[in-house]
This record gives sequence, C-alpha cells and structure tokens, in this order.
Amino acid sequence: MRDIREGICPLCAHQEIVEAVPAEFGDGNMELQNGVAVTYAPRWIMGGRNPSHPKGLIRLWFCRSCGYSQQFVLEPGEVPIDAEHRTALHRGRGAGQDNPDRRRLRTTHATLYLGDAGIDQDWPNGAVHSVRWERPFSIAMHRSPATFGPTADVHVQLKQSQANALAIVAFTLCVTDSPEVQRLAPLTTFLPRLEGEEARLVLRLLHQAARLHNIQMPL
Ligand SMILES: [Zn+2]
Repeated sequence: MRDIREGICPLCAHQEIVEAVPAEFGDGNMELQNGVAVTYAPRWIMGGRNPSHPKGLIRLWFCRSCGYSQQFVLEPGEVPIDAEHRTALHRGRGAGQDNPDRRRLRTTHATLYLGDAGIDQDWPNGAVHSVRWERPFSIAMHRSPATFGPTADVHVQLKQSQANALAIVAFTLCVTDSPEVQRLAPLTTFLPRLEGEEARLVLRLLHQAARLHNIQMPL
C-alpha cells in the first residue's frame, strides 16, 4: 500500500493530504502539548504513566477528498518495550530468517494512480513505478487477441529512464474497436484493466504527454 505521507491518497489518488496532531486533554480540559502518544514514561512514586512524558507521538494524515486516514508514530524505534510502558513486541514469523516452507503470495494486482503529473503503479512485489509526464518516455501498445465485439482491449506499456532505474507502468485499456486497434500486434498478458471514462481519461492524458515530447502514439 502507498504511504499517505507521500501526498497522494492511497484510496482515491487525490493529491491534498492534511497532517494533523490528534489532541489529548488533561486536568481542567487543558490540552496536553504533545498530543496523543502510544505510551508515556512510568511515574516514579504514584504508579501508572505520566501524561507529560509521552513516547511515540502519533500523527494523523488524511485525504482532503475522501477522508481516508493513516496514523504514524514518530520515532517508532525509540518507543520502550516493557510492562511499565504497557507495550509488547510481536515479531513476524519470517523476521530475520528465510522461511523456505512459506512463500508469500500476492493476490492483489498492480494498482494504478493517475494524476496530472504522471501515472504511478504499485507492483505486487512492492515496487512503486512512476512515469512523469514532464519527461520523455516510450510507449508500446498491443491488442488482446481475446476481444470480440464493439470494444477491444489494448495493452499499454510505458517506460521511462530514471536516475538509477527504469520505471515501467503497464495496464490494459478497454477502447472502441477500430482499424488502428486491429493493426496493433497481438499479445496475451494480464494487467490491471481500465474501461469507460477512466480508460478515456488515461488515453487523453497519454496523448497530451506524447504531444509534449513528440512521441508517436500507436492509437
Ligand atoms: Zn482519498
């Protein structure tokens, strides 16, 4: 999943993210300075935890469009783990060692995020690839041999060289069938598929970006 702190909503791809300090109140409804934390230092004499010594402050990030939120702990490695702080550590079974009899299978398919600045894709292996419209990229299109009727599936692959990597974003657009679509080379592949208004929007942005860099569009 994308980290909301990058400024893009993981749910709706909106690009206005608000950071907030969730409030905590003490005696007389006075707001505590640091907000909510995951734990507090133990008191010396009275027992319990001391609200004026927080450990692991919590910050809330939310999308300004859909309201989706994520919370993050500041300096997470500094939070003490013990009974006095009422914290406990749970390690994943595979932590620190390879576990040959358990293989993680990804069932979710590469998610796409489309924006005015470019198109991003979270690949199932955890990699995030971004193609920015402001820089040149290459585009390849193939048609799916398994389409019948008034629409056709077109596989699109965008590549862009970056400082130390090659970004690859690939998806399938369901478009109106045409002689141009029929002229594309056939290819069987399984990619995230967009149709209707979303497919038209992607195609429109692709045409805009291609014009910017004099890139020949197959469609
Ligand atoms: Zn959102």
